[in-house]
Amino acid sequence: TEVVYLITAGEVIDCFGSVVRELVENSLDAGATRIVVSLWPQQWRVRVADNGWGMNFDDLQQAATAHTTSKIHSSADLWKIKSLGFRGEALHSLTTLADLEIFSRAVGINEGWRVVYGDNGEVLETEVTAIAPGTVVTVDNLFANYPARRQGLPNATQQMKTVQGIIQQIALCHPHVTYQVWQNDREWFTICPASSVGKLIPQILPQVKQGDLKEIKLEIPNPQSTITLVIGLPDRCHRHRPDWVKVAINGRMIKSPELEQTILSSFHKTLPRDRYPVCFLHLAISPDQINWNRNPAKTEIYLNEINSWQEQITEAINQALRISEA
Ligand code: ADP
Ligand code: MG
Repeated sequence: TEVVYLITAGEVIDCFGSVVRELVENSLDAGATRIVVSLWPQQWRVRVADNGWGMNFDDLQQAATAHTTSKIHSSADLWKIKSLGFRGEALHSLTTLADLEIFSRAVGINEGWRVVYGDNGEVLETEVTAIAPGTVVTVDNLFANYPARRQGLPNATQQMKTVQGIIQQIALCHPHVTYQVWQNDREWFTICPASSVGKLIPQILPQVKQGDLKEIKLEIPNPQSTITLVIGLPDRCHRHRPDWVKVAINGRMIKSPELEQTILSSFHKTLPRDRYPVCFLHLAISPDQINWNRNPAKTEIYLNEINSWQEQITEAINQALRISEA
């Protein structure tokens, strides 16, 4: 159908990091408040467990079929999509790239199910299991049939660094959630939930103290949107720290050279050159203002009316800087 046609521009699952991103985003889309990621790099295995609303047995059997998504129903929905996933492709791709097994129990249902999927997303095994409401997805033997892809990847240590960065990015966009991360059966790191992103940042940037940060939230009526801005000017003793500027839109960290440039130049207009800003900007805007098709990984976007956003952001930064000077 038309919907399928529009969504085939594929997400590329090319490393541990992209597997983790897809699975954790699914957990967030399912309303999870606690997500446990376990990694076994030598085994090429990843498990993501969540306390989200889970799947009933029918949905679980369908979950890895090509273009199965519970998140979109018509091509018109594509323009108002709010969830992080929407093409129903990640789990299906994973069945072709790895072994996939999912345990899930829907909220309000007394039993959970375990399903093992075959190479094309078809159901190979099912059984009833006793689990708490939520979902546990295990991806094993990643790229076992794609030796060239494995060989092309950086070593395990490097890949785990990338995974850590991805989880931190996701946490900045979804600070109300607990992220517990294990590696080789040992707890590796945990990001504790925070009531706002400003309170979460010190967990990710330990050299930045909470008192160094100012957080403001602006409601913009037209087009209806919210700008959350956290800025910090850590003291001069950190002057050799590089700029830390992050931009997120609707729950997803993105690369936006235009907006990053706007942020840096608004800072540098008022700041001595030796002060390096910390800045996190999160725009929550109507999805019809965004074109996600700049690249398939959905990390770069085109924004409608970019000039007006640049003005709004400059204004927001000036406002935040005034607060922090007062
Ligand atoms: P998408 O996220 O684009 O919809 P996926 O292939 O990532 O596609 O997932 C397919 C479907 O499986 C989702 O639409 C959702 O209904 C279900 N699903 C996947 N992961 C979870 C989860 N952790 N909790 C609940 N449902 C899930
Ligand atoms: Mg998804």
